[in-house]
Amino acid sequence: MSATIRGELIAAVSEAIEIGEHVPCRAGDVIATAAWTSDLPEDQLEAARACRSCAVARLCRAYIAAHPREWGVYGGITEADRKPAKGRPCGTSKRGAAR
Ligand code: SF4
Repeated sequence: MSATIRGELIAAVSEAIEIGEHVPCRAGDVIATAAWTSDLPEDQLEAARACRSCAVARLCRAYIAAHPREWGVYGGITEADRKPAKGRPCGTSKRGAAR
């Protein structure tokens, strides 16, 4: 199933480009598209904003949900977005603790 999503995404990107739809991470030169693989959070946020106008964004989000990766921007989702929130472990709330 997940290999299918990857194939679907690759095909959708190719088709979108072929018919002239906007796929930001494939538009422009290597430098312009480097934000999608940058280590810098500000670059990744810029890429994520650009993803909003992408013709295949929904499928791209489905792909990254099926293939969580540790780096890069997919479907408007940055690496930081995909990291589990840090915080107090479940069941250790301060609420009700003795003072
Ligand atoms: S949603 Fe973003 S990462 Fe996915 S194909 Fe479109 S521009 Fe590229």
